[in-house]
Amino acid sequence: MGDLTFLATALEAIKERDLYRQLRPIQGAQSPRVQMEGKEVILLSSNNYLGLAEHPALREAGIRTLERYGCGAGASRSISGTMELHRALEERIARFKGCEAALLFSTGYMANMGLLTTLAEDGDVIVSDEFNHASIVDGCRLSRAEVWVYRHRDMDHLETLLRRSAHRRRLIVTDGVFSMEGAIAPLPEIRRLADQYGALVMVDDAHATGVLGKGGRGTGEHFGMTGRIEIQMGTLGKALGGFGAYVVGTQDLIDYLINCCRTFMYTTALPPAIAAMALAALDIVEKEPQRRQSLWENTGYFRTGLQKMDFDTGMSETPICPVLIKDNALTMEADRRLMARGIFVQGLRPPTVPPRGSRLRATLMATHTEEDLNRALDAFREVGRELGLI
Ligand SMILES: *Cc1c(COP(=O)(O)O)cnc(C)c1O
Repeated sequence: MGDLTFLATALEAIKERDLYRQLRPIQGAQSPRVQMEGKEVILLSSNNYLGLAEHPALREAGIRTLERYGCGAGASRSISGTMELHRALEERIARFKGCEAALLFSTGYMANMGLLTTLAEDGDVIVSDEFNHASIVDGCRLSRAEVWVYRHRDMDHLETLLRRSAHRRRLIVTDGVFSMEGAIAPLPEIRRLADQYGALVMVDDAHATGVLGKGGRGTGEHFGMTGRIEIQMGTLGKALGGFGAYVVGTQDLIDYLINCCRTFMYTTALPPAIAAMALAALDIVEKEPQRRQSLWENTGYFRTGLQKMDFDTGMSETPICPVLIKDNALTMEADRRLMARGIFVQGLRPPTVPPRGSRLRATLMATHTEEDLNRALDAFREVGRELGLI
C-alpha cells in the first residue's frame, strides 16, 4: 500500500489554522426548522429561498414522474436520446427567461465550467469579478483563454482592463447575486462597458433565479434588461428547490453547446423526475408571487434587525445576509454559540471567502415565521455581546 500520511499532515495544518471542516448531519427536509444535534433548530443557512424543496407539488410531480418514466436518464442526451421532460423543461425555462433557447446541465458547477471552457478559447480573454463563484474560477482555470480579474463590482477597473485588451474576443463574467456577499452585480454598467468595448456578457443567476425581479426571472429582469444578456445560467437547486442547472441564450448558443460543450456532452442527463420537479417549481414561482414577497419581507426584517445591533452585514441587498467577523476561530465560536441557542447559521472561512473574510452567512426563506426570525435575532444579540462583536 502507498503512503498516505501526507493527508494526515495536511489535515493537521488545516486544523491549526482553524479551517477544519466537518459535515453536520440534519434530519428531515430543508425546512425552516430542522432536527440537529438532537434538538430542533432554526435553519438559517439554506438556499431553499422559497420553501420549494419540501413543497407538496414538487414531491407529487417527482413521484408521478418516477412511476411513469423510471429513475435515471440512461446516458448523456447525445447518446441515449432526449426525454420528453428535458425538452418540456427547456422550453419552459427559455420562455420564463425571455430567451430563444435553453439547455439543461447536471449542476451549476458544470454549466459554468462548460460555458467558460467552450466560449473562451486561445486568443480570447475572460474578464471576471474577483468574488465570482468557485465554479466560475475553475471554468476560467480550465479555459485556454487569458483570465483577467477585476476588483469586486469596480466598474472603473473593469473599464481599464477592457480598454487594455487587444484579444480576439472579450467575455465579461459575473455572478448576478454574489453568493457570499449578497450584493447584486451592476449589470447596466457592465452592459454599457461591454457594448463600448465589444465584449460579451455572461451572468450567473444561481442566487437570482426565483428571487430577483418582479417575476423571479433573475438579475436581468431586476434591471429591466431581459433579452439584453447574451449568456445566462442558473441553478434548479436553490430557490427552485430541486437539482440541476440551465443555460439560456440564442438558439445558436444552445446548438453550439450541444455540439462542443464537454460538461454537457460527457455526463449523464438529469433524471426525468428532477426535470418534472423543476417544472412544478416554475409553476409556483409564476403563480405565487406572494412567496417571493414573504422572502423579501423576511430579508428586510432580519437584516434591519442585525444592522440595528451594529453587526456588519457588508454590501448585502438580497436574502443572503453575511455577518462579517473576519477571524476564523471567532467565526466558528459564534457558529457554535448560535447552535447552542438553537440557530443554525454556518460559519464560512477561506477559501470559500477571502482571507480575513470569515463570516456567518445567513440566508432567509419565505417560510421563516416572524417568531423564527425573532428567536434568531435574540440569539445573535446574545452571542454578539458575549464575543464582543457588537
Ligand atoms: C451554487 C452556485 C453555483 C453552482 O450551482 P450548483 O447547481 O449548486 O452546482 C454556481 N454559481 C453560484 C454563484 C452559486 O452560488
